[in-house]
Amino acid sequence: MAGSDRARLSEAQRQELGERLRAEYARLRAEIEEERHDASPEMLGSRTDEPRESSAESVVEGLRDVAGALLGMHVGEAADLRAAIERMEDGSYGECVDCGEVIGYERLLAHPAAARCVGCQGRREAAR
Ligand SMILES: [Zn+2]
Repeated sequence: MAGSDRARLSEAQRQELGERLRAEYARLRAEIEEERHDASPEMLGSRTDEPRESSAESVVEGLRDVAGALLGMHVGEAADLRAAIERMEDGSYGECVDCGEVIGYERLLAHPAAARCVGCQGRREAAR
């Protein structure tokens, strides 16, 4: 606890962020469940009695692509949140996974799943 002059998270801040992470994670999981359903071929392909027109099929394909892309994005976000919850449990939450610097409450409040400080995040995105 003592020994650092950096703006480490207070216990209250950590708890607040933990609640946000868990709430966001639960919300996202529910959304993913719905999207899995939307993206499933069973639902989209259920009207087999109708003759398939290529245009209708491509619309269905398109919808499935959109649902699948959204699902993929949310699965990624959920993984980030899950990782943040795990870091919170092992006590490393709030530290940049790259440089170990304190990420800061303001940034975490805006992005509770943030694993990196602004500097490292910027470098990472620039490297992509
Ligand atoms: Zn960093």
